[in-house]
Amino acid sequence: MSLLVIGTLAYDTVETMHTRRADVLGGSAMYFSIAAGQFVPVQLVAVVGKDFRPQDIELLKASRVDVSGVEHAEGRTFRWSGRYESDWNTRHTLETQLNVFERFDPKVPAAMRAANWVFLANAAPRVQMRALEQVTKPKFTVVDTMNLWIDTARADLLQLLRKVDAVVLNDEEARMLTGERNLIKAAGSVLGLGPRYVILKKGEHGAFLLGNDVHFSLPAYPIDEVVDPTGAGDSFAGGFMGYIAEKGNVRPETLRAAMLYGTVSASWCVQGFGVEALSGRTRADIDGRFDELRTICTIG
Ligand code: AMP
Repeated sequence: MSLLVIGTLAYDTVETMHTRRADVLGGSAMYFSIAAGQFVPVQLVAVVGKDFRPQDIELLKASRVDVSGVEHAEGRTFRWSGRYESDWNTRHTLETQLNVFERFDPKVPAAMRAANWVFLANAAPRVQMRALEQVTKPKFTVVDTMNLWIDTARADLLQLLRKVDAVVLNDEEARMLTGERNLIKAAGSVLGLGPRYVILKKGEHGAFLLGNDVHFSLPAYPIDEVVDPTGAGDSFAGGFMGYIAEKGNVRPETLRAAMLYGTVSASWCVQGFGVEALSGRTRADIDGRFDELRTICTIG
């Protein structure tokens, strides 16, 4: 059942049409851990600086996240800032400060190396690979990435894609990685790079999963007031992997349901800044939205 994640813990500055918020608790592994912890306990490997607030570690602990793999290094925590256009789907990265992440050499604690389910959240592909090498025999490994790494570390990323079972990408990343405009073609080319499955996220337009034994597509859960979409992709991955780890298999029917759970986790995420709307969700909240989403998608 053990689910391991490696990724960033961050303080983000987010600008929307309505407001600007500085030092919002975030990072790819933060969103993932909070969402996945609503299904199974999570083991986290990450690095933070001396400025990381003790209450933020406490929040992780309270969310069933084992933080013994979080390294506290000299220096400042990873920082990212971004601005959203009025359609929410267009995001501009204003600044990325790697800080302590720049020299991060992940060490997966001995007790976490036997993890079955592994999520390599958005991070430098070199760091993702170093972490993966330390896991003895994972059953299912999923990787996420971002335009920055596709641009600056493409060779490392391509090497990593040959070693994982699945990759999650958004529309822009899939086009950047493959050069294909059409997303079905892009997903097909990604499968040619190594993974058995590709999950393609299209923001408010939903997501689809493509693999040899499954092709599944669904809309986003309808939210009429988005507050901050940051972390939606990582929360999606958290719900997706959390459910897979809970079920303990990757049969096509599990993957389909996991896509719905991922969509539900992302829907909570966008209703608040950082993890404020996502954290504290009960399983009843999650299953309620799961049922609603299923009803939205079926005819009978
Ligand atoms: P998402 O909106 O799902 O793409 O994730 C946004 C989160 O990823 C933010 O909380 C950022 O701190 C974090 N992030 C932004 N850029 C990077 C990067 N280059 N590598 C790792 N994490 C990042």
